[in-house]
Amino acid sequence: MKCFRFVPVLIFAAGTAFAQAPAASPAGSQTPAPPVPVRSFDLSAIDKTADPCTDFYQYACGNWVKDNPIPADQVRWARSFSLLGERNRYLLWQELDAAAAHPKTALERQYGNYFAACMNTDLVETKGLTPLEPALKRIADLKDAHQLATLIGELAAEGDPAPLFRFGVSQDEKDSSKQIAQIGQAGLSLPDRDYYIVDSKRFDGIRKQYIEHLTKMFTLAGDSADQAAKDAASVMEIETTLAKASTSRTDMREPENRYHIYTLADFQKLTPDFDFTVYFKDIKVGQFDSLNVATPNFFKALNDLIDKEPIDAWKAYFRWHTLHASAENLPKAFFDENFDFFGKTLAGQKEHTPRWKQCTSITDRALGEAVGQDWVKEHFPPAAKESMDKLVAALEKSLGDDIKTLPWMSDATKTAAEEKLGMIRNKIGYPEKWRDYSALKVKRDDVIGNAHRTAVFDRDYNLGKLGKPVDEKEWGMTPPTVNAYYDSSFNDINFPAGILQPPFFDFTIDPAVNFGGIGVVIGHEMTHGFDDEGSKYDGKGNLREWQTADDRKAFVEKTDCEVAEYGGFEAAPAHDNQPEQKLNGKLTLGENTADNGGLRIAYMALLDTLAAEGKSIDDKIDGYTEAQRYFLGFGQVWCQNQTEQSARQSALTDPHSPGRWRTNGAVQNFDAFGKAFGCTKGQPMYPVNSCRVW
Ligand SMILES: [Zn+2]
Repeated sequence: MKCFRFVPVLIFAAGTAFAQAPAASPAGSQTPAPPVPVRSFDLSAIDKTADPCTDFYQYACGNWVKDNPIPADQVRWARSFSLLGERNRYLLWQELDAAAAHPKTALERQYGNYFAACMNTDLVETKGLTPLEPALKRIADLKDAHQLATLIGELAAEGDPAPLFRFGVSQDEKDSSKQIAQIGQAGLSLPDRDYYIVDSKRFDGIRKQYIEHLTKMFTLAGDSADQAAKDAASVMEIETTLAKASTSRTDMREPENRYHIYTLADFQKLTPDFDFTVYFKDIKVGQFDSLNVATPNFFKALNDLIDKEPIDAWKAYFRWHTLHASAENLPKAFFDENFDFFGKTLAGQKEHTPRWKQCTSITDRALGEAVGQDWVKEHFPPAAKESMDKLVAALEKSLGDDIKTLPWMSDATKTAAEEKLGMIRNKIGYPEKWRDYSALKVKRDDVIGNAHRTAVFDRDYNLGKLGKPVDEKEWGMTPPTVNAYYDSSFNDINFPAGILQPPFFDFTIDPAVNFGGIGVVIGHEMTHGFDDEGSKYDGKGNLREWQTADDRKAFVEKTDCEVAEYGGFEAAPAHDNQPEQKLNGKLTLGENTADNGGLRIAYMALLDTLAAEGKSIDDKIDGYTEAQRYFLGFGQVWCQNQTEQSARQSALTDPHSPGRWRTNGAVQNFDAFGKAFGCTKGQPMYPVNSCRVW
C-alpha cells in the first residue's frame, strides 16, 4: 500500500482521507441477507418521460433514482458501485464468518480471528477504556510541550494514533526509482480545513455541534462538565490553527506545491521545538539525510503552536485523538456518540452500519491480500483476465489514435505523449505475489490491540522501503475492492478483481454495454496519465515537463474550459440557512478530464471492435442502437442517490463529481452522443460550444 499519496486518482471516492468512515452498529445480531444481483443494462431504470437531449442522466437513471431510496445505513447509494460493493462484501463476509468458526489454514485462522475479535461487542463493553489506558497514561504524564516529539514517537511506536503530521516512505516525485522519506500536514478531525475556517451559518452550526460532541466524549471518558468544556475548546483551538496552516486540497493537487526537498538539518530548523531525531528513533526508520517536506509552512506554524499552547491543551488534544480513533471499538455510549456526530450530523446517515459489514471492511483493510487470495479463487475466473487484456489493448490503441488526431497539439508533443502511453503498465485482478502477514500477531480477544499491531506492521512495512528498489508489482488496493486507480509515479493502471464483474464487465452482454462500463473505466484511468496533474509526469513516473511551452499553454486553455464548465454545476441547492453549493471545478478537474477522455476513447475502441466483427454502431437491440446502448451503459454506471449532507461534504473533499455531472458533463462534451440520440445542435446535451482536452 502507498501510505503517502496525497491525491489518489481513483474512479470513485473510496472514502476521503480525513473523513471518518460511516459508523457501525455495536449490535452484532443482524443477519446478513444475500444481496440482489446487479444487472448490467437495465431498461427499467430509464425514465422515458425525460428527453435524453435535455438531461441524459434523468433519462438513463430517472426511474432507478426514484425507485431506490438511500438505505438507512448508507449516505450514498449508487447503482453500480454500491450494489456491487455490497455483493463483494457479502461474499467476503461468508469467507470470514466461516474462517472465524472453522479455520482450515493458518491464513484462515489469522483473518478469522481478526474478524471474530471485531464482532465480539460484549467483550468491548466489558473492557471499557482499558485498552487505551497505556496511551492515556503517557498523555497524562506529559510535563512540557517540548516533550511532544517523545510522546508522539512513543504513541506511534505502540500503534496508537499519533496526529499532527504524516510521515512515511514513497517514491521521489522527480526520480521514481528512489524511495525517500516524506512528511506532510495532518492532525484535523473534521473532513476538511474549510470546516474550521470558512465563515458561514452552515459551518458555524457544524462547529458548535463539533464542540458539543467533543464535550460529550470527554464527559464519557470521565471529565467533569467544566473540564470537558475546557478540553473541547482546547481541541478546537489547536485544530483550527492547524487548519489555517494547512494547504488546501485544490492546491495540493499541484505536484510542485507538495515537493520541497530539505536536508534533515534544514527541516529541523522549521520546527526547532520538536526534536524529530527522537521521533524518527522511536518509529525505527533507517538513516536518511534529506526528505520531501510537502508543506513547509505547516511545520513553521506547528512550531509556533507548540510554543503557544499550554500543556493542558496539548493533553486534551491527544486524549481526544486517542478516543476518537478507537470510538467504533469502544463501549456503546462512545460508539453512539461518535455515530451521532460523524455519521448522522455530518453525513446524514440515519442508522448504524451493521457490525458484520463494518468488521468485514475492517478485516479487508487490515489483511487485504490474505483474505483476497482466497476470495479471488472463488470469485474471479481466469477468463476475465484474458478478456481484460484484450479490452485494455483496444483502449490503448484508441488513445494512441486520439493523440495522433488531436487538433491542438504539436508533432513533438504528440511523439512524447505516445511514448508515455507506450510505457503505461497494466495490472489486472490481483498481485502476482501476495504479501506475507505471518509476522502480524492477531488476538481473538483484542480488537483495539489488533488495530494497533496492524498500524505498526503497516508502518514497518512502509518504512522498510527506504532506500530500497521500487517493487513495481505492488498493489494499492485489495482484490475485492470495487474501484480502479492510476499511479503517476508507477505510470500504471490497476483494476482489482472486485470491479471486473457485472455491471461493469459482463460476458453475457453485447460489447457496447461493456465498453460503456469497464471500457470507460479503463479509458478513465489511462487518461489520468494525461490530466492536469498526471501530464506533469513522464513515462518513467518522474515529474518532468514533456510538452512544449506552446502546447502546455494550449493544454491549460483546454482544461480551463472544463474548470469553468464543471464549476457551474450544482452539488446542493440553496434552502433555509444553506447556501447553494457548486462543484469545485479545479478540485475535480483531473477526474472530469479522465471521464471525458475515457468516454471518447472507449467509444473509438467500440467502433473498431464492431467494425472488426462486421457489425454496425446502428444495429439495434431492445429498441436501442449500439451507440445508444453504449451511452446508456455508461450513464447507468453513475445512477445514485446521496444525502444532502454527504453531497455538501463531497463537494469540498471529493475530487470526483457526483453521478449526475459525471454523466451529463461528459456526454455534452462529446458530439457522438448528440448524434446517437438524434439531438438538435444547441440542446443542452449537444451544445454548440463544448470542452475537449483529449
Ligand atoms: Zn479517476
